[in-house]
Amino acid sequence: MIRLAISADCHLTEPHDLWTSRLPPGQRERGPRLEWRDGRGCFVAEGRVIRRLPPLAGGEPQRDPSTGVPLFWRADDPSTRTRALEQDGVWAEVLYPNVAFFCTFAIEDPALQVGSCRVYNDWLAETFADSDRLVPIGMLPILDLAASVAELERLRGLGLRGALLPTHADFRPYNDPAYEPLWEAAAGLGVPLSFHAGTGRSQTPAHGPGAAVVNYVSTVSSPMETVAYLCAAGVLERHPLLRVGMVECGAGWLAWTLDAMDDAYREHQAWVRPKLADLPSESFRRQGFVTFQRDPVDLANVERTGTSCLLWGSDHPHPEGTFQESRRILVEHFDGIAQETTDRFVYRNAAELYAIPLPEGFR
Ligand code: MN
Repeated sequence: MIRLAISADCHLTEPHDLWTSRLPPGQRERGPRLEWRDGRGCFVAEGRVIRRLPPLAGGEPQRDPSTGVPLFWRADDPSTRTRALEQDGVWAEVLYPNVAFFCTFAIEDPALQVGSCRVYNDWLAETFADSDRLVPIGMLPILDLAASVAELERLRGLGLRGALLPTHADFRPYNDPAYEPLWEAAAGLGVPLSFHAGTGRSQTPAHGPGAAVVNYVSTVSSPMETVAYLCAAGVLERHPLLRVGMVECGAGWLAWTLDAMDDAYREHQAWVRPKLADLPSESFRRQGFVTFQRDPVDLANVERTGTSCLLWGSDHPHPEGTFQESRRILVEHFDGIAQETTDRFVYRNAAELYAIPLPEGFR
């Protein structure tokens, strides 16, 4: 039975002129924006198209006559989000961005990346920080790590309860000691770090026949590398209060990954460093989390993953999400699963992670 649902993965729409109006002169010309190019909506930063939106059914969008902004592009606020939650039968949601999600980590100028994160975090705090049922996740710059620590402290001070990093940082992988101050700050401030699938690498490396499926499979399975970096390098063990989550990637791969890490740790002892106090999987079961929309495979492996590190998310409003069908999909998905496990995955783990107040009868 689905008693209550909290979505640990949703996305909000930012104001179309957020960065062009708020970044300082000298940066605002290069900041993230929505542009219309060749009949397609595009997310643009530093003059480059970072992501093209799907073509509209009717061709050109209807526009607001006074601003010229496409009418489909309306910024979210607490009332639009709460209405959508009620429509979907969901109590609360964790909110990631849309434009900032695609653009911020693609920015190559470290100062512009810092400025773009600050603008987004300020708007989030102004707009959503007072709402118990909406948990907006702040953005952290990744190129300048001193600035990243400073922004983490600042966003916590603004009342934000989580922070987003790219799933992959191939220019400086997550086992680099340079990240230690960031891990330490996140653990000390009690801010869970999210690594949302589809960030830090191209989402569309494959082209040609089958590419759409190839790209989706590689995007949602690649967070297993990030799990291995954080566990095997001892990041989680050195920072026992650090919480790290892989978002929107399904969790069917998690049981296998935990097992493969331990197998490598035992069987490749001669090469393994650092030596850990516990097997690598144990730190993830203790401190990690993974969100999924529909994933029967993870539910078949609960005895290997444990029940504390899996969280459901609707991914509203993205096309692969469950919006408007969330309750039906959850009922089907959790048919035959123990009530205590269902409660943990569908609302209790998220409520504990982000200190989300529950309604009467659930406290
Ligand atoms: Mn998502």
